[in-house]
Amino acid sequence: MDEFARISFWTNEGQAPDLLEARGVRLAIGDDAAIVAATNKEDRNEAYDWLYTVDTMVEEIHFKSETMSLEAIGYKALASNISDIAAMGGIPMHAVVAISIPSRYSPQQIKQIYNGIYQCANQYGVAIVGGDTTSSPHSLVLTITVIGKVEAGTAIRRSGAKPGDVLFVTGIAGKSAAGLHLLLNAHQEQHLAQHHLEMLKQAHQAPQPQVAQGRLLHDLGSCHALNDVSDGLASEAAEIAAASAVDIVIDEQLLPISESLSQYSACAQQSTLEWILYGGEDYILLGSMPTEHFAKTKAAFSEQGMELYEIGRVEQGQGEVWLEALDAKLERKQRTCLSKRGYNHFI
Ligand code: ADP
Ligand code: MG
Repeated sequence: MDEFARISFWTNEGQAPDLLEARGVRLAIGDDAAIVAATNKEDRNEAYDWLYTVDTMVEEIHFKSETMSLEAIGYKALASNISDIAAMGGIPMHAVVAISIPSRYSPQQIKQIYNGIYQCANQYGVAIVGGDTTSSPHSLVLTITVIGKVEAGTAIRRSGAKPGDVLFVTGIAGKSAAGLHLLLNAHQEQHLAQHHLEMLKQAHQAPQPQVAQGRLLHDLGSCHALNDVSDGLASEAAEIAAASAVDIVIDEQLLPISESLSQYSACAQQSTLEWILYGGEDYILLGSMPTEHFAKTKAAFSEQGMELYEIGRVEQGQGEVWLEALDAKLERKQRTCLSKRGYNHFI
């Protein structure tokens, strides 16, 4: 199969023409560049800002075949990009896919990656409009760019957190790290009910970017700062704290824990708190808003069947992140400064 035959084998019939039309796509794959209408039916002549984001997944660094199926690799690569758009309060619209392929992969195997990409794209209404294909000497490299939009001037940045704000998350952190641990230590499985195991593996292999949650926060208009949790709660909090020139206090007692997570960490003899703070790849949203808006925002989330948890607060400071916990002996709250570890490629 030559390059062009491969590209059409991977991309033909991946998406309904209706989805492409709804996203204003005049011409998708096949020419030198895709053509997308700057305004389309949904716009109602409203002014929008474009959001651009790109993420690369490298075999052996971001995924290993022991823990990720080819389909999961494709799904997760697109999901992590969509999550960045969600974290700006935006709507993901279009994506281009660049893939560098070692010779040991067959076109059929790459097709499985595309099946995962299209599954995620169709779920979130993202039009795949092009890409690039090359060979690679060693590792498979998958780079996806997503373009989104948000009503002009209203994207939610990470720099807007203010002292007095409530710190919140839109889901439970730590499940992806627990899922990875489980996938690498399959012998732990016998001690846990099947639905807990599935929930943790899914959290790692097919994370659900929180576009609806990001849009709801955007539409309610009270969110001061927002990040998606790709590198771990502690590290995302540190990014908000640094960008906003404030301190962030995470209250250990408020951190939500899922049944699957606590049961698995107990039987694997791992620290739940480590996974929650430093695990990463949960793709939930972490943000801050004024205290007086929290209750009605939580109610609006509940109405739509979505989760919102208060986990701490924003204080005046110089960009530190603190973990506050009850010291049983002293019978009072103690705080420790959290280190800024999380995954860093150049340490
Ligand atoms: P060019 O030589 O003009 O860069 P290419 O041969 O790279 O064109 O690609 C031909 C068409 O196929 C383009 O529309 C491009 O966007 C699309 N394409 C190439 N590789 C991929 C891919 N991996 N996934 C999706 N579309 C792709
Ligand atoms: Mg090209």
